[in-house]
Amino acid sequence: MSAFRFELQGTAGAARAGTFHTPHGPVETPAFMPVGTLGTVKGITAAELRDLGASMILANTYHLYLRPGHELVRELGGLHEFMRWPGPILTDSGGFQVFSLSGIREIRDDGVEFQSHIDGSRHLFTPESVMEIQRALGADVVMAFDECPPGGASRAQAEEANERTLRWLERCRARFEALELETPAEGVERPRQSLFPIVQGNVFEDLRQAHARQIRTMGDWDGYGIGGLSVGEAKPDTYRALEVLDGELPRDRPRYLMGVGYPEDLLEAVSRGCDLFDCVAPTRNGRRGSAWTLDQGQVNFKAARYARDRLPLDPGCDCLACTTVDRAYIRHLIVADERLAERLVSIHNLRFLTRLAGTARARVLDGSFPEWARDWLERYRKAGV
Ligand SMILES: [Zn+2]
Repeated sequence: MSAFRFELQGTAGAARAGTFHTPHGPVETPAFMPVGTLGTVKGITAAELRDLGASMILANTYHLYLRPGHELVRELGGLHEFMRWPGPILTDSGGFQVFSLSGIREIRDDGVEFQSHIDGSRHLFTPESVMEIQRALGADVVMAFDECPPGGASRAQAEEANERTLRWLERCRARFEALELETPAEGVERPRQSLFPIVQGNVFEDLRQAHARQIRTMGDWDGYGIGGLSVGEAKPDTYRALEVLDGELPRDRPRYLMGVGYPEDLLEAVSRGCDLFDCVAPTRNGRRGSAWTLDQGQVNFKAARYARDRLPLDPGCDCLACTTVDRAYIRHLIVADERLAERLVSIHNLRFLTRLAGTARARVLDGSFPEWARDWLERYRKAGV
């Protein structure tokens, strides 16, 4: 039996509850994956991630390739051993970063040439090199190298990106399979990995549909990434793309909606059939003192009105921050620019999403998902006004 297996345990409309089995343990879905860009979820230890309910985490190929370098990570035992995270890990392909973050880049048919954001040095990512880097990092799930066109891309751009992504997927798979057959160096454990393709197509429903079909024709994948959404398009466009894909992607494989993880977006996507999510917002907002709360929406606790507020950040939350300190203290830490503020608010935000995903799962399993999701979204949206 494959080391990667998805059990679908319940559905409610398009929403799903399942378990994704990996060599480093199971992931109960829907699940939010905290982003450990450089092999660290900023400011949060591996033990704290476990405590706040994270089961699978994500790391960035682009960043780890530049620093400390994938060969060094391999030498130190791979990413799990390096960062002492025993659970499942997913690495992205670096595609999104080289397309969106790096300044000067050139897209060619063989790959993408880009400049390091650290020292300006020039590098080339190809489908093959990205598979080699992700092999060295040793994550459970590795993502195909894709072209992610920007939000607002034209239909012609989206079509061209779809075609290139397919050609690159073929090359990714060929290199991935060749690497699987290689005998690892003595003393190095052979990583067990799964390659996920990425469905592109921007907001064009027929292109999404066609791309999903073409990718499925190429093989029986363990799971599917959905890329190129939440890049500035209108929300109804995101939802329509997901609704189209729900009918195209196999029901018995996990679907990973890349880069999506604001609370309401996560829940809207769960109700349209997505299972796995990641987003840097919990820690990025945490660093700015901005926390998600069920009754007030997203709140920046730096405001003076919280100076004497003895309530927890979010009164219903069971996280380390909410069960130990109050808003008045956190507000003081934010104003004084104390690092503990970032940590506490980040922990809360991460917990907010793992709880939301976990509750969605429980509600799918007990049959109450549609009403619960509707009420939750109504309450959260009203709060945010
Ligand atoms: Zn909390």
